[in-house]
Amino acid sequence: MVIGGGVAGLSAAAALSAHARVMESAAAALSAHARVMVLEAEDQPGFHSSGRSAALLHYALGNPPVRRLTQASRQFFEQPPEGFGALSSRLPILTPARADEFAGLDALAADLVPFTDIERLDADGLKRECPVLKIGPGAAERGFIDRTAIKLDGHALLQGFGHVLRANGGAVAGNARVASIVRVGGSWRVESERGEAFEAPLLINAGGAWADNVARLAGAQAVGLQPKRRTIIVFDAPDGIDVRALPFTKSVPDEVYFGPEADRIFASPMDEIPTDPCDAQPEEYEMALAAHRIEERTIMQVHRIEHRWAGLRTFTSDRLPVVGFAPDADGFFWLAGQGGAGLQTAPAVASIVESLIAGSDWRVPGVSPGELSPARLVGQGA
Ligand SMILES: Cc1cc2nc3c(=O)[nH]c(=O)nc-3n(C[C@H](O)[C@H](O)[C@H](O)COP(=O)(O)OP(=O)(O)OC[C@H]3O[C@@H](n4cnc5c(N)ncnc54)[C@H](O)[C@@H]3O)c2cc1C
Repeated sequence: MVIGGGVAGLSAAAALSAHARVMESAAAALSAHARVMVLEAEDQPGFHSSGRSAALLHYALGNPPVRRLTQASRQFFEQPPEGFGALSSRLPILTPARADEFAGLDALAADLVPFTDIERLDADGLKRECPVLKIGPGAAERGFIDRTAIKLDGHALLQGFGHVLRANGGAVAGNARVASIVRVGGSWRVESERGEAFEAPLLINAGGAWADNVARLAGAQAVGLQPKRRTIIVFDAPDGIDVRALPFTKSVPDEVYFGPEADRIFASPMDEIPTDPCDAQPEEYEMALAAHRIEERTIMQVHRIEHRWAGLRTFTSDRLPVVGFAPDADGFFWLAGQGGAGLQTAPAVASIVESLIAGSDWRVPGVSPGELSPARLVGQGA
């Protein structure tokens, strides 16, 4: 039984559905006879973070283990398995730097070398790749581009996991906000707010921003997850700009990114505002900050914000996901804390879930179970 129908819960449920079987105990009637059951509070999977992502795969964020998880996920997106439509298209990522950011640019380039090929650019190269950038003294003068970055289709990804899950005898229950979790004998008994009951021996906590709350419901210790809000605005590009030819462009410090969104531009001030778990909404300040930083670094003016949204990126204290069995609750498995990389790492993380639960081969070189284990964090969320 998986709590949470975002990319984490659905990918894990799909991976496990090939291994699971229907419970044969008398109480199995409670579990709707699914081999794997995903319980989602909202009526639609992906309503929270997974549906609000910028949906990129690149290596310019995160730390080395997150980059390894990303690298191990890449093939899944480029050559999706049966049950999935096309999941990716190439979208180069450009990193421009002002003179005061050259040291940061070089440090980031060094971090990326083990993972991808980058091409160094001078001012002319920057202008050629991204004609909307301000170029010259006081503005961007150097940079690099990674032509291997990809834009993901988050919707197709969630649909594909749902399809595989159902094909293997699993199911997703929407409008099933879990309100109580009790261990009875060797099973978890879960009741939704609407009074539906479910039962399974193994419970996966993929509750995203709410995962600490889910753990507390089950009597397990929290791990100190911190949801942080991130804001996106969408606006019209200036006339004469071929928007679809623009790269995804990110400043060296986490100040601003922008890229093509159909025929418009999407941009974020890369905000990380700590919040309680909630249906995150964009705030005026961060929208204005996005517009200000766009106008500071590019020739674009944000005359009107056509569209906006915000979502939560949920972090552990070391900014690595938490994946593994809880040390303090039998049959309780953590799958949370994916931060800003939950889409691009989902296939590798789901394979880790499969490995830890069903004993399949470990397919992520350079990442160890201990690095992701909840044992490193339990008690941090008192
Ligand atoms: C603006 C933005 C940009 C991003 N850009 C990228 C990017 O470019 N690349 C990338 O890889 N990642 C990106 N991310 C991060 C990515 O979206 C997340 O890491 C990922 O979606 C987390 O997935 P999740 O399944 O853990 O969370 P969610 O999608 O939030 O799913 C958790 C689910 O659990 C459910 N739930 C909670 N409590 C209960 C309960 N008691 N009962 C039942 N259900 C419950 C919730 O309703 C929710 O649907 C971005 C995120 C944001 C906000």
